[in-house]
Amino acid sequence: MNEQQKRRQALVYHAKPQPGKIKIVPTKPYATQMDLALAYSPGVAEPCLEIAKDVENVYRYTAKGNMVAIISNGTAVLGLGDIGPEASKPVMEGKGLLFKIFADIDGIDIELDTKDVDKFVETVKTIAPTFGGINLEDIKAPEAFEIERRLKEELDIPVMHDDQHGTAIISAAALLNAAELAGKKMADLKIVISGAGAAAISCSRLYKAFGTRAENMVMLDSKGVIRQDRENLTKEKEEFATHRKIDTLEEAMVNADVFIGLSIADIVSPAMLESMAKDPIVFAMANPNPEIAYDLACKTRKDIIMATGRSDHPNQVNNVLGFPFIFRGALDVRATKINEEMKMAAVRALAELAKEPVPEQVNIAYGEKSLGFGTEYIIPKPFDPRLISTIPLAVAKAAIESGVAQAPIEDWDRYEEELLK
Ligand code: NAP
Ligand code: MG
Repeated sequence: MNEQQKRRQALVYHAKPQPGKIKIVPTKPYATQMDLALAYSPGVAEPCLEIAKDVENVYRYTAKGNMVAIISNGTAVLGLGDIGPEASKPVMEGKGLLFKIFADIDGIDIELDTKDVDKFVETVKTIAPTFGGINLEDIKAPEAFEIERRLKEELDIPVMHDDQHGTAIISAAALLNAAELAGKKMADLKIVISGAGAAAISCSRLYKAFGTRAENMVMLDSKGVIRQDRENLTKEKEEFATHRKIDTLEEAMVNADVFIGLSIADIVSPAMLESMAKDPIVFAMANPNPEIAYDLACKTRKDIIMATGRSDHPNQVNNVLGFPFIFRGALDVRATKINEEMKMAAVRALAELAKEPVPEQVNIAYGEKSLGFGTEYIIPKPFDPRLISTIPLAVAKAAIESGVAQAPIEDWDRYEEELLK
């Protein structure tokens, strides 16, 4: 299929048989007059009164507890940039589809027509009573950092900006496993991070939580290496500013163990890869085109461990491995937030799952013969049926242990069975 045919196929997929990718369906009987008298007036008054007496009852009598708002203002959509709220809607609807098929969560997309941080925060707070959780999406940095920080502080339901933490969680799991395969310790890894936006900052913070050291990290933005002596740095960039007196990606790559790309396409050359240390770990995650093309990178370094954001190569760092399952676990224990412990539990669970024998149906789904832990399989595949029982469980346990679960689970076997239904 040529490029034009692919574009057309994507448009037809979205337009037919009805526009868009999601719809709402009732969950209760509605065939008779009696059913309707329960669904609406007069029956509906009873749950209203119960909830008015005790607001916790909203989880018992409404869909709130399984409903996540997917909220964007369209200012940093995929790699497409600031394309506006309406143009971001296909992405948000797509996220709704993924929430549903992977974790049976009702994801409702909400596109906000504002770039103002106060107005954004106020709007989300105002509509929060409807939802069990908030997935912030495709909001430009640095505004995204403040929006997420304030909403986390001010709301008592889980809030996660997926572009920051989703990517961080999946890539951290991949990094743990890649480092193990390369026989290197997290604390010793010399890491170059290209990009200093929402994803790069959050990834770098999470890698630190797993033992990488700030003094071993060099971060670059569109102006080059972020040095401590550079003026007018945002506080997020300041956090990763290096003391080293270097300016370019080329200089930073010499002897580096890891390259993390969360920036733009085609900025890494074969010569730069050649200058990296033995068994280089290269996660070139710019979408849709990575910092260096997969085939070129693998041709340049036979000892490479490579991941990208793309589904047409091994080791896809795909957020779908994270958000459905993380929210599933958080919602199921009515967590008041998604905290560091929960994110770290998800990382460990993902990394461990990749080391388990792969079920035959996963091989079949991806047209593979024998997927198994190694340089071309460092993270699980999205269609792995074990994700739904392992990741939410790990997240729910971490929520309970870290004291943010309002409805702790007691019977874990039963919970696992329910997840598999
Ligand atoms: P963002 O907040 O807009 O950040 C982009 C960052 O890239 C900015 O810090 C920008 O620098 C920097 N940049 C631009 N040109 C650069 C260059 N030549 N060299 C180094 N840095 C450069 O976007 P984001 O949400 O973090 O996403 C960044 C990229 O990662 C996108 O391509 C996105 O698609 C991709 N991504 C992939 C995954 C995945 O694979 N799962 C997940 C998330 C994001 P300034 O700060 O100077 O503007
Ligand atoms: Mg996104």
